[in-house]
Amino acid sequence: MTERFADIQLLRYEVPGFSSLPLRQKLLVYYLAEASLLGRDILWDQNCSYGLRIRNVLETIYTCYDGPRDTSDWQAFVVYLKRVWFSNGIHHHYSYKKFQPGFSREFLLKETESLDLSEFLLTKEELMEIIFNPNVMPKRINQTDGEDLLLTSSCNYYAEGITSAEAETFYSNLRNKADKKRPPMIGLNSRLERNADGTLYENVYRSGGLYGTAIDRICEALDIARQYAENDKQRAVIDKLVEFYKSGNLKDFDDYAILWVEETLGEIDFTNGFTEVYGDPLGLKASWEGYVNIIDHEATRRAKALSDNAEWFESNSPIDSRFKKTECRGVSAKVINAAILGGDLYPSSAIGINLPNSNWIREEYGSKSVTIANLTRAYNVAARGSGMREEFVIDDDTKKLLEHYGDICDDLHTDLHECLGHGSGKLLPDVDSEALRSYGSTIEEARADLFGLYYIADPKLVELNLTPDAEAYKAQYYSYLMNGLLTQMIRIEEGQQLEEAHMRNRALISNWVLEHYPTAVQIVCKNDKHFVCISNYPLLRRAFGELLAEVQRIKSEGDFAAARNLVEQCGIKLNPKLHREILKRHKQLNLAPYKGFINPKYELVRNEEGDIIDVSISCDEAYDEQMLRYSKQYKTL
Ligand code: ZN
Repeated sequence: MTERFADIQLLRYEVPGFSSLPLRQKLLVYYLAEASLLGRDILWDQNCSYGLRIRNVLETIYTCYDGPRDTSDWQAFVVYLKRVWFSNGIHHHYSYKKFQPGFSREFLLKETESLDLSEFLLTKEELMEIIFNPNVMPKRINQTDGEDLLLTSSCNYYAEGITSAEAETFYSNLRNKADKKRPPMIGLNSRLERNADGTLYENVYRSGGLYGTAIDRICEALDIARQYAENDKQRAVIDKLVEFYKSGNLKDFDDYAILWVEETLGEIDFTNGFTEVYGDPLGLKASWEGYVNIIDHEATRRAKALSDNAEWFESNSPIDSRFKKTECRGVSAKVINAAILGGDLYPSSAIGINLPNSNWIREEYGSKSVTIANLTRAYNVAARGSGMREEFVIDDDTKKLLEHYGDICDDLHTDLHECLGHGSGKLLPDVDSEALRSYGSTIEEARADLFGLYYIADPKLVELNLTPDAEAYKAQYYSYLMNGLLTQMIRIEEGQQLEEAHMRNRALISNWVLEHYPTAVQIVCKNDKHFVCISNYPLLRRAFGELLAEVQRIKSEGDFAAARNLVEQCGIKLNPKLHREILKRHKQLNLAPYKGFINPKYELVRNEEGDIIDVSISCDEAYDEQMLRYSKQYKTL
């Protein structure tokens, strides 16, 4: 166990296999890791235009403070700063709501008295308003239907005053002009801004452009990393990425993505750049992230067994044949261990990643899909003995089921979701891949999850030696619905709704089957506590299949109205009474709803002549120490 504050628990992760790598591969990991940490400030600025300035002030107070440490003001200040670090900004990483500080205005005024705030490019009024006024920048991403998503979101992808309608017109014009068959990821790597004459233009993230100083330092690290590449293709990937960072041209980005998908022989791989669009209310602009990974040979067998059978899964899927891929190719799947997490993957990280996001590249070249074994392991270790199952699972038989099959099925569901789910199905010709707009991410996650839920119960998995027997899937069905209907609510504050795409997707699926298949699943009350009760597992599988077919139809046809209906009906609202009960039961367990990771620290080891003879790894850095070191060592903006 490591540090705990507010709703966060920090974990550490081991990097199996690193120490036994040859020096050359260690150096590749080292320099790619450097490149993964150097983009940190970009993300902070993308999340909020005030993020970096506020961080600098808070860190200065934190390091210079010489007052008493046992006061509630100081302690609340420390918690606030730790939360800001965790979220890479002043808004909660999951709910997107601005943090409310627990310290007083007087405390902050006193601690900033001796500071020259102009050095931080802030006025006292701005600082106080941003930190204390709940109505100023209240939400990083607002997705409330019917409101102007840009004017009400405080993320920094669009200049102030640009409306959703203006941005959507701007981008639909660009889309109309673009190659229809192989469209670039329009809008991905820029901030939309306004000219003096009122027209809009993109301020592109590139060397010499927006975030140029950060991008140049990333490129320097990549240029060293390329010397240690494991093969020519991997070197070409790194070179193309640097070329893209220099040009900012999205065609270079697609070329890079294709080279990256095709490079499958290296034992070390990485992601570095503007990648996921969850942080943009319009789902166009990508936040910066970086990570490096090392293959886990052992566990890769499991994922490979799935991708080798991709065609079988696609042709046996319960979706309409018009939406099936005729040829299913290149779903490369491997299990990896993370060596470093950076940008939007730090400290809170995904445990499975499937890239690239470009639909046509996925169709023509396939995608790379990974499950991050060492992070999952760290989660499982932390979860064991937490008391959650004792509190929320309906009976002893179900508890035994979860005990017995829980870990295997969890890993397998992630594999199915990442290796096959996201890669399956296709859009009908002429359907705009952005047609589902703000509902697109939730629908896409639902599609991948449903694919996993449907197939985890398939006898094919027993045949492939992936599940031990025909009962195992029940563990996944139970834990999935328990999470979707009950326990994921612990991450949401009372009175709030679901915002994050993965959470909305789980609620959507669970509520839909609860409503449409009451003979398969119910919520029952025992001793004033509510539990999920599954009374017909095979029927539940049919329900997942039916919903998968519908969600695939929505995606393939770009049926925005149906997507909106489904998400708004089943994926957002919480039952207030049930929510209150779950929060109360969870509170008694005294656990943190969110977890994240402290990175290992890599250092070059030199001999007396100054030659590099090794790269050391250590996993004992404290959270604040790491954050302050990153702010200094990887300060780029
Ligand atoms: Zn996914």
